[in-house]
Amino acid sequence: MRINEHYAKLPASYLFPEIGRRVRAYQAAHPDAKVIRLGIGDVTEPLAPAIVEAMHAAVSEMGERATFKGYGPEQGYDFLIDAIREHDYQARGVDIAGDEIFVSDGSKCDSGNIQEIFAVAARVAVTDPVYPVYVDSNVMAGRTPMLIEGNEANGFQPEPPKEPVDVVYLCSPNNPTGTVATRTQLEKWVAWAKANDTVILFDAAYEGYISDPSLPHSIYEIPGAKDCAIELRSFSKRAGFTGVRCAFMVVPKTVTGLDPSGKRVSLNSLWARRHTTKFNGASYVVQRGAAAAYSPAGLQQTNAQIAFYMENARLIREGLTAAGFTIFGGVHAPYVWLRTAGGATSWDFFDQLLDKAQVVGTPGAGFGPAGEGYFRLSAFNSRANIEEALGRIRRVFG
Ligand code: PLP
Repeated sequence: MRINEHYAKLPASYLFPEIGRRVRAYQAAHPDAKVIRLGIGDVTEPLAPAIVEAMHAAVSEMGERATFKGYGPEQGYDFLIDAIREHDYQARGVDIAGDEIFVSDGSKCDSGNIQEIFAVAARVAVTDPVYPVYVDSNVMAGRTPMLIEGNEANGFQPEPPKEPVDVVYLCSPNNPTGTVATRTQLEKWVAWAKANDTVILFDAAYEGYISDPSLPHSIYEIPGAKDCAIELRSFSKRAGFTGVRCAFMVVPKTVTGLDPSGKRVSLNSLWARRHTTKFNGASYVVQRGAAAAYSPAGLQQTNAQIAFYMENARLIREGLTAAGFTIFGGVHAPYVWLRTAGGATSWDFFDQLLDKAQVVGTPGAGFGPAGEGYFRLSAFNSRANIEEALGRIRRVFG
């Protein structure tokens, strides 16, 4: 059997297993150390009561002959799609049709799978540093994405590249830098995409953390974006669904690509074909839980969780600044991005922080070459752990 040789071009392991390996080795050598993990971006607050209640009710329905459900619609149940259309889009002046929304079991899969509908020869650009799945999933398929560098000079929100590309991945609010694209920046991307016949893949997994109401939450708030952008959303960070699993992708019917004969094909029909062939729908119980995140109680409870994490982010920004660090992000995203102390490489800083403060973060280099020399701390933790971690960091570096 001949293997997919492109896998050999991937880094040896995904970022988080390597972090886990180093933490386990440290913990084995220092069994009494109380290590605080501000590394992996996983939520820590339990599911909101309104969501738990809806999921319990859905489980009960599944246990009754009269209300039991087998396979559901592959694109998602109308009760969830209607809630998404109303709360995420109509409320912000955007009209998205029900059949333009594809409910799934996570944005990791969506962001990794979407490249299947691009030509193998498609030129792909990815901002750097960013969530590693965009690059790795394209490398697996035999493409070598072009990296567009984010840096301090451009506030980690790079401009469109000079060269035309077929597809560009944008992530705002950004993982890992915690920075957010302004309306003007998104307008530039949309104008550039339309001028170059480029498709934008806009990952808005952290949209719920935007605290300034004037900032766009969806790329479709920018006129023209429905002709050139696909948007990814997830309930993971918005509603604490990292372990429950639910997300969706918006593929407007007006976004098109060229077939080999030069004919325009709707990406919506391609994705519908792909999605219904390889996916049998997210679980009914999970979709009932996701829909409950939009109920008045669900919104109030999940917004309170986000406010709790964002207060953590504020404390991290304040504590790191007091310890002398140069920081970015953390205002519209649960991540704070810092320049490493004394110009250390990001993995050296990882080891230093673990060794001296017993705090785990994520090395910037794991998110791409432009992340070297930077480090990500996440606001997902208890208040007590955040305060303890900051106290240690201030003692060691302040
Ligand atoms: N997109 C970004 C930018 C993320 O940071 C993450 C998770 O950390 C995901 C997507 C994955 O989300 P999900 O839990 O829906 O798979």
